[in-house]
Amino acid sequence: MREASVKQTKTVCTYCGVGCSFDVWTRERRILKIEPTGEGPANGISTCVKGKFGWDFVNAPERLRGPLVRRAAADGTETFEPASWDEALETVATRMRAIADEHGPQSVAFIASSKATNEESYLVQKLARAVFGTNSVDNCSRYCQAPATQGLWRTVGYGGDAGTMDDIRAADLVLIVGSNTDQSHPVLAAHLRAAQKKRGQTHIVADLRAHTTAQRADLFLRPTPGTDLIWLSAVTKHIFDQGWEDRAFLDRWVNHEQIYRESLEPFTLQFAEATTGIPRAQLVECARLVAEAGTVCGLWAMGVTQHTMGSDTSTAISNLLLVTGNFGKPGTGGYPLRGHNNVQGCSDFGSINTFFPGYQKVEDDAARQRYEDAWGVELSTEKGLDNREMIDAIHDGSLKALFLVGEEIALVDANAHYVQDALSKLDFFCVQEIFFSKSAEFADVVLAASPSLEKDGTFTNTERRIQRLYKVMDPLGDSRPDWEILTDLARKLGHDWGYTHPSEIMDEIAATTPLFAGVTYARLAGYQSLCWPVAEDGTDTPLLYTDEFHLPEGKARLYPLAWTEPSDQPDDEYDLHLNSGRNLEHFHTGNQTHKSAGLNSIIPDTYVEVSHELAEARGVATGDWVRLVSRRGAVRVQVLVSDQVRDGELFMPLSSSQHAVNYLTSNVVDPDSHTPAYKELAVKMEVL
Ligand code: SF4
Repeated sequence: MREASVKQTKTVCTYCGVGCSFDVWTRERRILKIEPTGEGPANGISTCVKGKFGWDFVNAPERLRGPLVRRAAADGTETFEPASWDEALETVATRMRAIADEHGPQSVAFIASSKATNEESYLVQKLARAVFGTNSVDNCSRYCQAPATQGLWRTVGYGGDAGTMDDIRAADLVLIVGSNTDQSHPVLAAHLRAAQKKRGQTHIVADLRAHTTAQRADLFLRPTPGTDLIWLSAVTKHIFDQGWEDRAFLDRWVNHEQIYRESLEPFTLQFAEATTGIPRAQLVECARLVAEAGTVCGLWAMGVTQHTMGSDTSTAISNLLLVTGNFGKPGTGGYPLRGHNNVQGCSDFGSINTFFPGYQKVEDDAARQRYEDAWGVELSTEKGLDNREMIDAIHDGSLKALFLVGEEIALVDANAHYVQDALSKLDFFCVQEIFFSKSAEFADVVLAASPSLEKDGTFTNTERRIQRLYKVMDPLGDSRPDWEILTDLARKLGHDWGYTHPSEIMDEIAATTPLFAGVTYARLAGYQSLCWPVAEDGTDTPLLYTDEFHLPEGKARLYPLAWTEPSDQPDDEYDLHLNSGRNLEHFHTGNQTHKSAGLNSIIPDTYVEVSHELAEARGVATGDWVRLVSRRGAVRVQVLVSDQVRDGELFMPLSSSQHAVNYLTSNVVDPDSHTPAYKELAVKMEVL
């Protein structure tokens, strides 16, 4: 028998926002090797361990191979049974249409996947808006990056990273706040290590844990949990007090300086030292280093955003960069590091409750008219629900049907018991997934989707860089790419979109969305890429704000801030602070990476990092089991005694479905973005 030939296909990694591109070598469904070619604009010649070895899940026996429908048996029990695509889609269309007709368009909602393609995000919001007449569509940036976007919108105008990894590499100084870049964005961390070693790039790292990113820093700031806004504001105030601000830049480019300076008055070095625990000398050193550096990039992640003050702390970083003139020139700018591979693109392409694609407000008449003309329907201006509001609306009975694409909402949204209770109350719930997830347990219909290696499309990485992925292999079994499922569902509902390839979806997007006017598959062929905004002639924008800010008068805006205490602080009973985040080997709940034998053998489950002092005081050692209990729930987890956490503080990776940290987290959100305050969490530890 003749052996199948070897195939080499370009794709984009799905495990973080760095967006590494590489070639996948396959023989039929067998992945032979992952090969970065050097052409990848984000990664150059390397990938991390997930990008290289994290693909076994594609052939995992747990993959859904076709649609499932919940059926009641004669004895009253319910089971999921295989169904044809025709039956499954007919059921979804009929049930959701009936609910929308009876209770109005606001009774149905949609959540898109930040792992699916840009074209698929566009179709989810088109299904919500054009077919069901609701703006209730959102994506998982609500859980992570919405506060960072808010901070950038307030101060500089665009909600994306200011420049590219070339700028981060070129900076004299990089300020990293609330990010363990080594573990969460590994290839970017490799570039940072190289810049530090070869060019003497200065690194200031602020975080709770003394992780490897912090250990390598020239200056490591270790604040009390929930106080980043204070030290950032105190450093900025000290720069003003010393006359170290970039006066020419402020006078030429920045509005609202006076009102902002007044808001800084409470943030003295004395107050900052007392509340953050960071020694005054370190705050002064931080201010001096930032002010004296020729070029500074500010990087931040969920250690900043997942707080009640997530938007304000993101704003404080941007304020500091503006005061020191660090926007609009190479080697400068604000860089929230996007977590999911396409969390940037999912919002960019419209799966967000307040905007059409390209951040055009739903109440903008001209924008709405463009989509009404293109889609041939009248569109609603009524405010839609975001993810968090959807869960509350299910509890209050106003939201009755949910369509969920590729998101493990039952475990990744905060307060998992509250979320799962909501999912159980829905009149109708459709989950579109590659595995039978925890969320799928609550579904009425489960639609079998295909992962990135089985489809064409585009992703947008943390640099606003749109990149092309090509189909490596055919969908497994009877699973299908999300864009095909959505197109067929729309047809069942009387809307014949007629797409035969994702390039046609992108052509429609470019024709209706100024931010992507010049995006075409021809311009993205192979390893080519485009950073938005992209003009009609194909000119893209790797570095923003070189000639104006995206705000009135073309000027940036300093935004006044105040600090409030974090929610859920340790007390006599719940006496420990629990932090959470990623580890290098796994992605989020680990439903994909735990299926890679190599990665799973390194870290088979989550754990809790405990300091040597606390371990000794409680009589626990590495490998012992403890129960972490919060005011919402409890999880059982193994101890890892670590010198990276302080006494009184714990750290737990996200990568578990059995022991998910979100059984502990609360309903408290950042009021400006509705992002849950995942990082404000007091627990007690019971030794088992
Ligand atoms: Fe994938 Fe991120 Fe690793 Fe690159 S750095 S290979 S995008 S997980």
